[in-house]
Amino acid sequence: MSTTDAVTVDCNCKVGRVIDQYDVSELHEELAERWGEDSLRDLEQYVNQQLLRAAMHRADMEVLDGEVENFYNLLVGDETSEGVRVEARKRLERASVDVEAVQDDFVSHQSIHTHLTECLDTAYEQNRDDEERIESATNTVFALQNRTAAVTDGTLSQLRDAEVLALDEFDVFVDVNVTCEACGRHHEVGALIERGGCECQQ
Ligand SMILES: [Zn+2]
Ligand SMILES: [Zn+2]
Repeated sequence: MSTTDAVTVDCNCKVGRVIDQYDVSELHEELAERWGEDSLRDLEQYVNQQLLRAAMHRADMEVLDGEVENFYNLLVGDETSEGVRVEARKRLERASVDVEAVQDDFVSHQSIHTHLTECLDTAYEQNRDDEERIESATNTVFALQNRTAAVTDGTLSQLRDAEVLALDEFDVFVDVNVTCEACGRHHEVGALIERGGCECQQ
């Protein structure tokens, strides 16, 4: 089972809302990956830069390498003088970027923290739980299959050795097959669990 399945996050916090609104859903994955490695301030900066990038793209602005980071710095950086800041705003506005709207949508590191600890953690927990349940169910079924094979093997061997059964060396295979009553498909149980259910229900 793949552990890199995309985590679907359906939240209504500010971070989730802007990620939706700017159509940058890959940020969910990136935030999850960088969480714990990068500081919340780094993540804040990264998310906001991606929002700015999306806004610039939307305005059909040609975005050069490093330009987003540079504009972001000019807009919010502590070191930027007011004159330079105003100039940067004007350049973006001339290119039809709604600077005020984007800046309103910028998220704080507190919002990132809330999103990571509340929204994402819940999503991950759910995912982990599901994976564990699947693994444990698979183990239960396979253990039972192995036991059935072993008991069958033993029973047949006894009959053969008592010369009640005419048989040379043999192997026992146990397949558990599941029939979906909705569509009539047959599934080998392991494949069914791995696939996550019957095709007709997906
Ligand atoms: Zn959220
Ligand atoms: Zn079915």
